Amino acid sequence: MSNHIITKYPFTGEVLAEYKYQSNEEISQCLLKSQGTFEKWKKGSILSRTKLLDKLSLILIERKEEYANLITQEMGKPYKESIAEIEKCVWLIDFYSKNAEEFLADELIETEAQESFISYDPLGCILGIMPWNYPFWQVFRFAIPTLTAGNTAILKHANNVTGCALAIQDLFRTAGYPASCFQTIIATHKQVEKIIKNDIVKAVSLTGSEKAGRTVARIAGQYLKKTVLELGGNNACIILKDADLNTHIETIVKARMQNAGQSCIAAKRFIVVEEIYEEFLKEFKEELKKIKFGAPLDPKTELSTMAREDLAEEVQRQVDESINQGAKVYLGNKREKAFYEPTILIDVKPGMPAFDEEVFGPVAAVTKAKNQEHAFELAENSNFGLGTMVFTENIEATRKQIGNIQDGAFFINELVKSDPRLPFGGTKASGYGRELSREGILEFVNKKTVYIK
Ligand code: NAP
Repeated sequence: MSNHIITKYPFTGEVLAEYKYQSNEEISQCLLKSQGTFEKWKKGSILSRTKLLDKLSLILIERKEEYANLITQEMGKPYKESIAEIEKCVWLIDFYSKNAEEFLADELIETEAQESFISYDPLGCILGIMPWNYPFWQVFRFAIPTLTAGNTAILKHANNVTGCALAIQDLFRTAGYPASCFQTIIATHKQVEKIIKNDIVKAVSLTGSEKAGRTVARIAGQYLKKTVLELGGNNACIILKDADLNTHIETIVKARMQNAGQSCIAAKRFIVVEEIYEEFLKEFKEELKKIKFGAPLDPKTELSTMAREDLAEEVQRQVDESINQGAKVYLGNKREKAFYEPTILIDVKPGMPAFDEEVFGPVAAVTKAKNQEHAFELAENSNFGLGTMVFTENIEATRKQIGNIQDGAFFINELVKSDPRLPFGGTKASGYGRELSREGILEFVNKKTVYIK
């Protein structure tokens, strides 16, 4: 294995930078510093921490273009979406700035005691292992509640967004956080294994693939350390016969195509009931054709390259195998290096990779359902459990399905999306634990029972 990471602009293949993995000694120092900082950081008031959030938010707004540019260069996302990603981070920070004190306040519970309550104490140094697809958002979603609860954080980011990882470390320091409160490490998987085993690290939050989740959870489990896992998804988008396509088709397209399809919560399986099937395909295709393809840094571009060529190759394999098993191409399916045309596959059935696996690219897999009941059965036929979305005008009837779907989210007439005010997370192979909202800030705390007689 090379001892260097080379980051590249996926649109041209141009080399952006080269980074050296840190030595074991350097990483040990980071951990020791994190522990030292924790001892002081945990004693500060929540108010002192939310004040830092306000500074962080201001810097993000000030440097929005710079950071958006960096995201786009490292992973090829259209600039417009990178700007939106930074704005969403600001929203998240402001949300916790306003609410953290209330979320973390002692919770009084009446018993026979003179006083009994839950105290939410920080745990210590938390390791965050993050993916490249939303290089700022994923990190902030982990770090903001974790730090505000009084923990310190170490970030191991995906290799291809190392520049973002270092920029985020710098951002926390500029905002006035103690230098070792948030640290980025540049480490191999072997080194990450050692970090998880180190006593200083109290818990791990991983957002990434199912494979990475299983590996990291196994190591953490051996050492009895808590994990939060935000893994892959294979969300169903159910189109019922009374769906208002005129109103929702743009949202439905966005649900699949944003971020070139590289989103865990994207609609991946389109399950469409027979009565509306032909109309849906026609409208879906027309809307897909309107997407503006171009260079990622062009502010008008809506869809561009995928983040790496190997990711596009994997999508190609999944599509090819599905076609071999009977799926048909309704639109697109041309690939050149990391560029994958927006694609619609029809006649997709359970057992095909396009139905069973997470397809992390701009490919919509469409399956025809006989009726509403069949549509929900197909939706539930998945190892993943991140979210389901349903488009229908009959909200009352669809409400009855909420309990039948085991996913972490159920959205009606909207794409599954994250929102700082609402909990976010999955079930089954999509992981466990929750981020965002009050649920998220209470993941990495010791919920201590205090009883005073
Ligand atoms: P990935 O290959 O699993 O990588 C995610 C992170 O885990 C990277 O930092 C990676 O580091 C690290 N990693 C992988 N294997 C590891 C190991 N054995 N030990 C230590 N670290 C390891 O996933 P990705 O390709 O970056 O991201 C795409 C996946 O993330 C998709 O499945 C997507 O659905 C999922 N995702 C889920 C959510 C959610 O909220 N549920 C959000 C976004 C993405 P390296 O770069 O060094 O390999």
